[in-house]
Amino acid sequence: MTTRIDLDGRPIKPMTICMIGAGGFIGSHLCEKLMAETPHKVLALDVYSDKIKHLLEPDSLPWVGCIVFHRLNIKHDSRLEGLIKMADLTINLAAICTPADYNTRPLDTIYSNFIDALPVVKYCSDNNKRLIHFSTCEVYGKTIGSFLPKDSPLRKDPAYYVLKEDTSPCIFGSIQKQRWSYACAKQLIERLIYAEGAENGLDFTIVRPFNWIGPRMDFIPGIDGPIEGVPRVLACFGNNLLRREPLKLVDGGESQRTFVYIKDAIEAVLLMILSSVQENPDRANGHIFNVGNPNNEVTVRQLAEMMTKVYAKVSGEPSLESPTIDVSSKEFYGEGYDDSDKRIPDMTIINRQLGWNPKTSLWDLLESTLTYQHRTYAEAIKKSMVKPIAS
Ligand code: NAD
Ligand code: UDP
Repeated sequence: MTTRIDLDGRPIKPMTICMIGAGGFIGSHLCEKLMAETPHKVLALDVYSDKIKHLLEPDSLPWVGCIVFHRLNIKHDSRLEGLIKMADLTINLAAICTPADYNTRPLDTIYSNFIDALPVVKYCSDNNKRLIHFSTCEVYGKTIGSFLPKDSPLRKDPAYYVLKEDTSPCIFGSIQKQRWSYACAKQLIERLIYAEGAENGLDFTIVRPFNWIGPRMDFIPGIDGPIEGVPRVLACFGNNLLRREPLKLVDGGESQRTFVYIKDAIEAVLLMILSSVQENPDRANGHIFNVGNPNNEVTVRQLAEMMTKVYAKVSGEPSLESPTIDVSSKEFYGEGYDDSDKRIPDMTIINRQLGWNPKTSLWDLLESTLTYQHRTYAEAIKKSMVKPIAS
């Protein structure tokens, strides 16, 4: 383990971190980083531990004792407050956060992203504990520019699409468009945390991830998740490539996204954690941070094309003649789906407060991610696709 220094050059004091949702995609990378590069202890809370198993076993790992897993559901577990009290800092990652759930399980989505987060905020506030809460770029909803006529020159003006933490509005669709149940629940918990800060002095940082992607994201249906499950786009397209099926473009794949490599994004979270040591708390306290890579913007169609090329390179298998297929959102996600048109993060605040910038290009991050997916799943997929011969 290298000795990390804080943003002002001082060695970091060891802290205890209560990480809720530590067994998920972001949590697993954050735990890995904290174990490898910091002296901090992690109380890792989740209902699953598969993605952090490699950090918990065997007992001979150099960080033995520094990470302790607590299998619990924060919906109903009286241990939660005690664990938050034991820690200096709480990081809340727990959520239902796959778009396929927002319109098909809106109640679970709202409960998970708002109601279940309430006690976490309350326990942090009541016990004077710092909170880093994971929200989403989806709180911005649609861009102002999306309401302009298609041929309006203003659509090209960044003022109409770049998303700024302190000035951009949050624009959602109608209540019938249940897609926005997630964004709305996240927005309300952000407002509650902000109000706890303003009225009761809660030390908080809110993170708005802009499509963080990389190894271990979500699941491959039928291999390490339900066959009928619909993960986020990286795993959907990865699954299609592994199975040699065309990649499905929802409503023409015209929506735009900026993708950031998980390892770059985790550096930003680490800076937020380091800034919570007492010497320089104001760098992150009371702030909302966009964390994304504005240089990695593509339409979903371009993402599909790039993933197809990268996968051919890493697998050595030629691409399909027709690598993509169009599907309607109603067919793919069901009634009540809607979409964010474009997501470019403004980086002014995170640059100024933490000096963070993403480094990895979209091609490079897809190459390492698809290499991981191919290595992890290709054999299992092949086996699962071999049909028994009828006798
Ligand atoms: P994930 O689904 O991989 O991780 C979430 C983890 O929380 C899972 O391991 C899950 O088991 C756990 N969890 C959920 N409910 C729980 C409960 N009641 N009790 C205990 N554990 C529970 O998702 P992720 O991509 O790692 O996202 C983490 C956070 O970041 C979420 O709040 C999400 O909304 C936010 N976010 C992520 C992205 C991204 O690009 N990955 C984008 C926007 C927002
Ligand atoms: N999408 C797609 N095909 C898929 C999965 C997703 O075209 O197989 C689209 C989806 O409609 C959205 C974008 O890809 O426009 C990103 O979807 P993701 O699930 O990653 O979540 P989001 O960025 O919308 O939160």
